[in-house]
Amino acid sequence: MPPAFRLSYDAIVVGTGPGGASVARELALGGARVLMLEQGSAAPVKGTLAQMAGMAAVPGKGAFFHRDASLLVRALTTGGTSTVNFATAAPPPHALFAAHGIDLSPALAALRDELPMAPLPDSLIGPMAARIGDAARSLALPWHKLDKMIRQQTCRTGCWRCVYGCPFGAKWTARDFVDEACRHGAQLVDRARVSRVLVQEGRTTGVEVIVDGKCTRVHAPAVVLAAGGIGSPRLLHRSGLAPRSAPFFSDPVIAVMGSVDDIDGGAEVPMAGGMSLHDEGISLADLTLPKPMYQAFAAQVGRVDRLFVHRRTLTIMVKIRDEPGGGIGPRWVDKTLGSADRRKFSQGCELAERILSAAGARHIFRSWHFAAHPGGSLAIGARVDRELQTSTPGLFVCDASVIPGPWGLPPTLTLLCLGKRLGQHLTR
Ligand SMILES: Cc1cc2nc3c(=O)[nH]c(=O)nc-3n(C[C@H](O)[C@H](O)[C@H](O)COP(=O)(O)OP(=O)(O)OC[C@H]3O[C@@H](n4cnc5c(N)ncnc54)[C@H](O)[C@@H]3O)c2cc1C
Repeated sequence: MPPAFRLSYDAIVVGTGPGGASVARELALGGARVLMLEQGSAAPVKGTLAQMAGMAAVPGKGAFFHRDASLLVRALTTGGTSTVNFATAAPPPHALFAAHGIDLSPALAALRDELPMAPLPDSLIGPMAARIGDAARSLALPWHKLDKMIRQQTCRTGCWRCVYGCPFGAKWTARDFVDEACRHGAQLVDRARVSRVLVQEGRTTGVEVIVDGKCTRVHAPAVVLAAGGIGSPRLLHRSGLAPRSAPFFSDPVIAVMGSVDDIDGGAEVPMAGGMSLHDEGISLADLTLPKPMYQAFAAQVGRVDRLFVHRRTLTIMVKIRDEPGGGIGPRWVDKTLGSADRRKFSQGCELAERILSAAGARHIFRSWHFAAHPGGSLAIGARVDRELQTSTPGLFVCDASVIPGPWGLPPTLTLLCLGKRLGQHLTR
């Protein structure tokens, strides 16, 4: 059955990741008639490798290999990439947004009241994260518990499913806000790929969307692109509203791994604790991954000797704030590391190796770099104004694309704040 689109809407939101879900929910709460169009599926999350791979590992859709063999990942599904993320929350860097006249503190205060967001109790921290944290603190490093967007009463020990999609409802994802928007009258159409934005006499009038192979035009005076750091610049280009290629940042990561003899684990919440060297643009966190992902990283760097010691391997994620560059093109995405990026990686990885040694780990090795935060491709101040509006009236962008400069942080909470602020602005 084709979806029954209504005759008109007040706003169309394209994409339901943190940015899109937040603005859609705020608009629906304010009484607007909202349509959410989502390319991925709204099927319930099962927490299986096969389902996660369908969302985030299909080459050219969820997974992009750069020329230097590094991988960039996003998820095409309702809830966007938050469905498979690690649920770590970091507050927005206020100065970065204040420089553009944007105050995210009211939105942050409101979201803090309603989201499950706190460090995990010791009972939910796995033995590998605990060992890494103890080792870092023994070196007098400022390792601390990180805020997690997790309902602690529903979370369980010995589980590895955060990154496959939590089937137990313990992890907060943007699907929570999509559901709330629907309860307040918004309409969600999934498996609906927006192909371009419609513009008439210089103003946005709606979008063209493909559902079940059929192309339909849907109209609204406001369109919010929230297709993510890769999807939104591509849509703007396809609509004739942006150049063919957009530079971006990706917050690349190297996993530093080493094995111990006295832990039999491998199944725990990742990123329970960590530390940040803000000025250097380097952050570290524990990162116990599911076995197939660990094995893929070990195999990529030729460490076949480490393939079968997943349950004994401690992993530290080293993430850097990379310089924007490379390009997101119509059918490709490519970014290689600059020399400043490589220097940050060597400093961060050496620190991670010291921590692993202090934890008693041996056979320490580094993965190739990979990334999961594409953003900055339609930056505030360059491609959108402080209200996130493009130069085409009625056309807004609200996702990681608009982040105004080099980043290096978990973006979800910032995007929720931006979505709330934009939803309130449009409602007014
Ligand atoms: C493994 C992993 C772990 C992570 N861990 C964390 C973490 O712990 N904390 C954190 O803050 N961040 C984390 N992130 C990153 C975070 O989840 C993303 O930065 C965030 O979800 C980006 O939100 P967004 O709204 O910009 O886009 P997305 O979440 O990518 O959402 C974009 C949506 O748009 C849809 N879409 C795209 N094109 C179209 C189209 N043409 N038509 C219709 N729909 C379209 C997509 O299907 C998707 O649903 C992680 C990411 C990964 C991959």
